Formats: sequence, C-alpha cells, structure tokens
Amino acid sequence: MIEAAAGSGVARRAVFIAGPHYRRPSYGSNHPLAIPRVSLTFDLIEAYEALTPEEYIRSRPASVAELTRFHTRDYVNALKRTEAFGRVRAADRARHEIGTLENPYFPGIYYTPALATGGSLQAADAVLSGSHAFSPAGGMHHAVPDAARGFCYFNDVVLAIMRLRDAGLRVLYLDIDAHHGDGVEQAFWDDVGVFTLSLHMDTAYAYPFKGGRLQDQGGPKALGCALNVPLPRETSDREYREVFDHVWQPVAERFRPDAVVLQTGTDALFGDPLGRFRLSTAGFLSIVEQVMAVGVPVLATGGGGYHPLLLARAWAGVWGLLSGRTLPVALPEAASRALRAVGWDEDEDEPYYEDLFRDRLEYGEERPVRPVIRELVAMLSGHAALKRRLWAS
Ligand SMILES: [Zn+2]
Repeated sequence: MIEAAAGSGVARRAVFIAGPHYRRPSYGSNHPLAIPRVSLTFDLIEAYEALTPEEYIRSRPASVAELTRFHTRDYVNALKRTEAFGRVRAADRARHEIGTLENPYFPGIYYTPALATGGSLQAADAVLSGSHAFSPAGGMHHAVPDAARGFCYFNDVVLAIMRLRDAGLRVLYLDIDAHHGDGVEQAFWDDVGVFTLSLHMDTAYAYPFKGGRLQDQGGPKALGCALNVPLPRETSDREYREVFDHVWQPVAERFRPDAVVLQTGTDALFGDPLGRFRLSTAGFLSIVEQVMAVGVPVLATGGGGYHPLLLARAWAGVWGLLSGRTLPVALPEAASRALRAVGWDEDEDEPYYEDLFRDRLEYGEERPVRPVIRELVAMLSGHAALKRRLWAS
C-alpha cells in the first residue's frame, strides 16, 4: 500500500515516459493521430528545461504476456501478423476491426501501440513506488479485448489499472477526453475497487454513439462505481467546472482511492478539429490541478487530441503540474520555434492563432452557464452513484 502524502503540498517524484520512436510518423499519413504529439510535447518541455535525466524513462514495448492480460491472443496475433505482412487480412478486418476507416492500417500497427502500452505499465510501476507518472503516448481508452476501436489498438489504460489492482490499490479513473472512456469503463464495470468517472460529449451526438449515459452506473456487484457525465456541444470552462466541482469532491472523498489514473485527451479544448467543447488550456489544467490535490499518486496518460499545438501546450502544462514546476506562461523561443515547425495551418485565420505561439495558456470567455447545464447539475444531485455507500466499504 502506498503511504498517502498529507495533502497536495508534499512533493512527489514524477516521471515522464516517452522515447525516440515518437519522433517518426507513428501512425502513417492517413490517420488523425498522424500529427506530432509526444515528440512536440517533449520539445516544449525541453524548451522549458523542465525535465531532468532522473525524471525521464525510456519507454519499452509491452510483452505478449502483458498484452494478453486483457486482449485476446487472437487479436494480439492478428496485429503482429498485419505488421509483418504489411497488409490486413479480410478475416482480421471483419473480426478485429483493423484496417478500417475507424482503425486504419499503418506501418508499426503492432509495435507502436505495444510501446505506448509498455509506457503506461512503466507509469503504473512508478505509481506503485509512490511517484506521479505521465505516459503521453498512452490513453487509448476505447480498445476492447478482441478489437480496435476509435483509433485505439491496445487499451494501455486498462492494463495499467490492472497492474495497480494486482498490487491491491483502489483506483479512481478520471477521463477528461472529449469522448466517453467506454473501453475502460467496460473492463472494470463490475469491480468495486475501480471507480470510473468520465465527462464527455453526449453520445447522442458524438462517438462512440452509445453508452456513457447518466444512468450507466456499473455492474450488479459494483453498482455506483461508474459515473458518466454527458455534456452538450459548446461546453465552456465555466460550465465544465460547474459540473466537475459537483462530482469530483464527493467521489474522491467517498471512494478514497490509493491512486488516480487520469486520461488527459485534449480534444475537449476549444480549437480541436474533432471535439465540440470550448475548454481553454487554463481551464483544462485547473482540472488536473484539482486531481492532484487529492494527495495520492497520479498516473496521467495522453489520449485524444487532434490539434497538435493545443495538445503539446496542454501536455507540457500537465507535466509542469505533475513535476511540481511553475512554468512561465510565455513560451520560450525554442518552444515557439518547435510549434511553428509543425506547419499546422488549419485554423490560421482564427483570432487566437498567433497567440498559440506566444503563450502556453489562454483563458476561457466568461459566458453565463446555460440552463441545460443547470438541469444536468440538478440530475447529478439526485444521482444514485453519488449516494452509494458501497464505495466506502
Ligand atoms: Zn477523444
């Protein structure tokens, strides 16, 4: 068991897990993840001189034995085979959903997700020794045992949580990716030792187009150990905060986790091409800050996020918080250069575009909270999951 730090004032060691592999295009060209993500985050952190050699861990690939703790041997073999032959067999496409529009083929279709998974397992080991850890290549929360889902091939989050569970830890999983963390929720649906909390775009209008509803609260043995907060389009900082404040404190206090696993997909940020929320980077990071205030080790993973500049700025901020550094808001010259070098121009006509290269933060606009959010908060107040005594037992 981990000795809980007395409050958030206690400095914990933190480790950042990545590797040179992420320098090359990891997901081919026909893929929304074919943008610099981990490498650009690393460049920003380096520009801030915010990573010591002691804090850096080079990622290793997960072994087949590790992967098959959650995934089927058939599925693992299918990905291996696909990588070796450089093509997807029709039978594998049909059964394992690889080589589809949703989960396209790319060179390294086995190795790259295995490496991301290894990184998240290393992060779990670091958490077991009492550290915070960041595995930015991880966070592939949609993958299921026998198939790929929503750009996710191996579910590193599930495997990392399993490692923490094996050591007897109670794990609170918070998913702030814009999409429902369905694969993780499903894996621990009936485990009273894992609480899954996901705030996401309502599946009535967003992927995965099912589940993630307020009434989905866990399986028969663990009823009340899942909490889903579906949110409307255009959710702002203030609205997100209103809802988050309503659920986070009671969940953290009653569930009493030994560790928090935090999926930090950045597609909830305002300019994300696939997300429909309007969070600012400052608003996003204030959530991470509050998670750290629980005082237990935090295992942060990456996740979605399809705007490379917003993503790297946000994840550099996540690392700053985990490692206990106060990073200046103004980006160092080398960081601006790295962001410019991406050549991202999809939103170059937007008024905020130039600011992305100047500061690492921007702040949300102050709009009034909409009635739809007030209604949601009222429903959360009467929510069974928030009232269950089960988690405290
Ligand atoms: Zn997402």
